[in-house]
Amino acid sequence: MKIKTAEFVISNSKVDHCPNSTLPEYAFIGRSNVGKSSLINMLTGRKSLAKTSAKPGKTQLINHFLINNNWHLVDLPGYGYAQVSKSTKKVFQKFITAYFKKREQMICAFVLIDSRHKPQPIDMEFMQWLGEHNIPFCIIFTKADKLKPKILDKNIENYKNEMLESWVEMPEYFITSATSKLGQDDILDYIEGINNS
Ligand code: GDP
Repeated sequence: MKIKTAEFVISNSKVDHCPNSTLPEYAFIGRSNVGKSSLINMLTGRKSLAKTSAKPGKTQLINHFLINNNWHLVDLPGYGYAQVSKSTKKVFQKFITAYFKKREQMICAFVLIDSRHKPQPIDMEFMQWLGEHNIPFCIIFTKADKLKPKILDKNIENYKNEMLESWVEMPEYFITSATSKLGQDDILDYIEGINNS
């Protein structure tokens, strides 16, 4: 898929205020600093469509972007920021779970994972929750350019092995780099394939 247009639609903190539209939407979510804004900008070919936040975890907004006038890319807040209080975490959880439970037009959640790190409980728990609620998701491994190919392969293999301890099969996954654009075509084609099906 070629990106012809990518426009910011709305930011909001209430799921009920998300665009009243039946267009399919694809949500991007992950730990703060995982590279979500960079990935969204890379995918859409726009330098600063998604803003990289100076204070990760502070802004808890759902951002909708309209792509090619026929689907929404949704930038969800980053989770797992260490300096966020317990009460903020609870609010965040409610907010995110409400989004996934209510948005019937949400086709697939892309869960971003930093390819440099070992599987983190917070990501595993989040994917477990998605699975329990029958919410389709894929994994996007980010920052692949930061690793030597052999280490990258090893990390992905470790990840798969850990996933397969609790999942029957490895979810669809993509390996990406915002700097080299690795994964851009694969993800856009994946979305296009679903939209056309
Ligand atoms: P967010 O908090 O998840 O939106 O993360 P950002 O997109 O703001 O990225 C966090 C940091 O990682 C920034 O310093 C980015 O420049 C860097 N970064 C993000 N993606 C990549 C990537 O693919 N390769 C490299 N080398 N750095 C990246």
